[in-house]
Amino acid sequence: MSQQQRGTGAAPTRRTVLAGALAATSTLATTEAVAAPFVRRTTRPTAADWEALDRAISGDVLTPDDSRYSSARRLFNPRWDRVRPAAVVRVRRTADVSEAVDFARRQGVRALVRGGGHSYVGASTGSDALIVDLRALDSVTLTGTQASVGGGATLYPVKSALAARGRSIPTGSCPTVGAGGLTLGGGLGVDSRAHGLTSDAVVGATVVTRDGSVHRVDATNGSSLFWALRGGGTGLGVVTVWRYRTHATRRTGFFFLTFPTSAAVRVLTGWSRWQAAAPRSVWGSAHVEAMGSKGVRVRVVGVCAAGQEAAQAEALVRAVGVSPTSRSTRSTDYLDGVRLLGGGTTSARESFYAGSDVLRVMTTGTAEAVVGVMARRARSGGTGAAILDPLDGRVQDLERDDTAFPWRAHTATVQWYLGLSSSSATAWSAAADVVDAAHSALGSRSSGGYVNYLERSRPLRDYLAGNADRVAYLRTRYGVR
Ligand SMILES: Cc1cc2nc3c(=O)[nH]c(=O)nc-3n(C[C@H](O)[C@H](O)[C@H](O)COP(=O)(O)OP(=O)(O)OC[C@H]3O[C@@H](n4cnc5c(N)ncnc54)[C@H](O)[C@@H]3O)c2cc1C
Repeated sequence: MSQQQRGTGAAPTRRTVLAGALAATSTLATTEAVAAPFVRRTTRPTAADWEALDRAISGDVLTPDDSRYSSARRLFNPRWDRVRPAAVVRVRRTADVSEAVDFARRQGVRALVRGGGHSYVGASTGSDALIVDLRALDSVTLTGTQASVGGGATLYPVKSALAARGRSIPTGSCPTVGAGGLTLGGGLGVDSRAHGLTSDAVVGATVVTRDGSVHRVDATNGSSLFWALRGGGTGLGVVTVWRYRTHATRRTGFFFLTFPTSAAVRVLTGWSRWQAAAPRSVWGSAHVEAMGSKGVRVRVVGVCAAGQEAAQAEALVRAVGVSPTSRSTRSTDYLDGVRLLGGGTTSARESFYAGSDVLRVMTTGTAEAVVGVMARRARSGGTGAAILDPLDGRVQDLERDDTAFPWRAHTATVQWYLGLSSSSATAWSAAADVVDAAHSALGSRSSGGYVNYLERSRPLRDYLAGNADRVAYLRTRYGVR
């Protein structure tokens, strides 16, 4: 463990924030020119300006008169389909990113970065903005056990390319989520107990910062920015390449248990006890689902090494103390398992609103609050899910300030996920009210939220706790805008 990784876990003081600032200056000042101040202009770039940018890069600039613009500007959530950026700049190499960032600064246009396009709040698009579209930066290479992954690569192609060499990185399950956005916020997934967050596997990155300059950061070079890129969320420059340590793949075992609704509270407390006692190679996610007039359903999805699925399912049933109404197990090759978890190799666009809470401990009161939220949702005819993922195992091997991801002494995240049949602002806002009510139901049992599940209005401190001030400072210093 590096000195920076060891950390103290102490609350940040003005001194530690300043120490981060000084470290940033000393490691990056040699390559970073002083950026000219950003001035938002009332005039927009002309067609000739955009054409000049198009000629200067190896990618393409798509303005609204281009037939490719309409599909290029879309994100995963149709909620943002009406947003019309000034241009989508499809970059093909790091130098294109520098050029686009510099163009935006000179022209006084807001620059926004798009990876996989799954931002919960549409952060990768904006009216009249220049979108730095990273999707063509999708290369995946493996040197020894270290993977280099383009800043716009999406998860299934990454997993698939690495699996062909018997390696993997810890990630979430959705095949179309961007590795970039996922890593910046942490990255929760089925390997987290064994191998940590996606961001915990990062050993270095290539980043374009505010003035268009390029930096290779790691534990010794640009260590403040490197610290922030691992779980601090977005707004810290444009990562064009991630370097990750990898782990060996294995055949995977799965178990799927559904319990009686009446046992929902016992399922959550039993799941939490079972998870804490289980080997790190075992991971389980508990789901409490509101199904309108059909009431509430409670399930656990478990993942482990192939061959252990029946025993682990039984251990969970014993911890819950209630027989499941359905139980199934299976084992698969590694990549088949990736596809099973992700629902295939791609995922259809979906309207949704979601938010999260972070739980330090799972008490009966906490479980009752979670179940109560979904029961009320079902009684009102609504649907939705509370999805609880563990935060223990290797995630807890680091301290709160070892990287920007702060939730190192917590038991689980709970994601409040509401699929929507309409993409209207009204439907979105009504769903946000439901999630706000869920936060209120948990009250002080929640420590904050997970920064990859951003909500419409929540302060940075809710997501980054004691790491928020340092990240905020680094954003103003390095983030493009
Ligand atoms: C269906 C679905 C499933 C999900 N599953 C999981 C899961 O299993 N585990 C989990 O932890 N999270 C999960 N998430 C949340 C996901 O990690 C975040 O929404 C993440 O921000 C998405 O990244 P993206 O690149 O796809 O999205 P984008 O909208 O492209 O980007 C999100 C943010 O990151 C910035 N960004 C993206 N790439 C870069 C880069 N290379 N450099 C600088 N900035 C960048 C963008 O500017 C934007 O602000 C899921 C989300 C969805 C919609």
